[in-house]
Amino acid sequence: LPHITVVGAGLAGSEAALAAARLGVRVTLYEMRPVKMTPAHRSGGFAELVCSNSLGGEGQLQSKGLLQAEMRSVGSTILSSADANKLPAGNALAVEREGFSAAVTHTVRTHPLITVVEEELSELPQGVTVLATGPLTSEALAANLVRLTGGEQLAFYDAAAPVIAFDSIDMEVVFRAGRYDQSADYLNCPMNKEQYEAFYTALEHARSHTPHDWEKLEFFEGCMPIEEIARRGPETPRFGPMKPRGLTDPRTGRWPYAVAQLRQEDQEGRMWSLVGFQTGLKWGDQKAVVQLIPGLENAEIVRYGVMHRNTYLNAPRVLGATLQLKADPTKLVAGVLAGTEGYLESAATGWLAGTNAARLALGLPCIVPPPESMLGALTRYLESANPDGFQPMNVNWALVPELPVPEGRKKLGKREKRPVMFRRGLDAFKSWAREAGLDVQDLELPALPTAELV
Ligand code: FAD
Repeated sequence: LPHITVVGAGLAGSEAALAAARLGVRVTLYEMRPVKMTPAHRSGGFAELVCSNSLGGEGQLQSKGLLQAEMRSVGSTILSSADANKLPAGNALAVEREGFSAAVTHTVRTHPLITVVEEELSELPQGVTVLATGPLTSEALAANLVRLTGGEQLAFYDAAAPVIAFDSIDMEVVFRAGRYDQSADYLNCPMNKEQYEAFYTALEHARSHTPHDWEKLEFFEGCMPIEEIARRGPETPRFGPMKPRGLTDPRTGRWPYAVAQLRQEDQEGRMWSLVGFQTGLKWGDQKAVVQLIPGLENAEIVRYGVMHRNTYLNAPRVLGATLQLKADPTKLVAGVLAGTEGYLESAATGWLAGTNAARLALGLPCIVPPPESMLGALTRYLESANPDGFQPMNVNWALVPELPVPEGRKKLGKREKRPVMFRRGLDAFKSWAREAGLDVQDLELPALPTAELV
């Protein structure tokens, strides 16, 4: 029988091994736990959830809801194990973590085509391999990956600023400009003195995530968190990332008192990140601080800022949308190591990498889901994102193509357009999977939540 290797039995690796085995391919799965633990995992169980127990928002209005539906349609074990261990959590898919991990472990360990080897793999194996060793990839393997991809392409920590959906930015307030004569590539949120002071006070009082000892980072001047910059004095941000010099507001003809700048994250300009605002603030406090910025009062944060240890590849430089490494297409990468963020995203890219690894072993071409589907949109983003300062990405609605706005309308509301985008994405995904010869299940669509839950 054709054979592949999978390294790491986390969210991505477990799903990758099962996806490949489902296609009749033999799998050797390496997992170093419990022989060698990571600083975050507590058990030897597969698909251990290291922090929260939620696999994201559910239903037709949620981007994670669409990804969950896509994965259920192709028989994902992470999703069936989550469904079997679901806990009540409003409109989120929360699970009882031990039962969930035990269910995934049992399915993997009892699969006749999967052999589990409990050992750390430090060399890249021969033959078709899925690398799914996650944000805490062991040092020896990371060193070998650096050798294959080039030193610059593997990051060991993530210092990210919040990313905001363009359609939630108030363009009546924000102006497009570059500093002095530079091209107008930035969106600028102008602040007067009172607005700046209110923002500064909120920033000063916002609470940070308390990192574990091993998560602590030494801040380089270039990636100092905004709350740390603020701690140096009320004027420091205004002379740092928030300096207004050379940015003339066309509405006043003057430089504002301070400015928060946004830089484009994706090719279509649907996602924008706050320049110099890398932050380790708690998400609730982070949102409150961001929404004090003029023009961002209704900002939808599609990816929160984080400051933590994280091992991930610069996907747009080294990976294709099929999740194959450009330097060696027999090696596929999934999960956080591939530049995704989140349990569900890890599992979903694991499924695709496992499917493609099996196809390679069977002599078939690799495939990518359509761009309207959430999984297709995510892996296409990994391939096409701006490689400069690339940071891991969660799924969100700004990744999939917009719906056309009907004539006579200015824009479509979220509640109106998202169920349409949900059905479009799921239908496209299922047709694609059927064409690729995969088993596809037709499951009932999740009910639309009532207005109060949106
Ligand atoms: P993992 O699930 O970590 O799986 C990787 C596996 O590879 C591990 O089992 C590890 O033991 C094994 N391994 C590593 N190196 C080797 C080797 N050389 N040989 C053999 N095995 C190896 N996401 C969320 O959605 N919600 C959260 O609340 C959340 N909290 C997080 C908290 C922390 C501290 C971290 C680090 C990440 C968090 N994430 C969270 C991000 C991410 O979704 C999870 O880390 C997720 O588990 C990633 O899935 P993965 O399959 O890529 O990696």
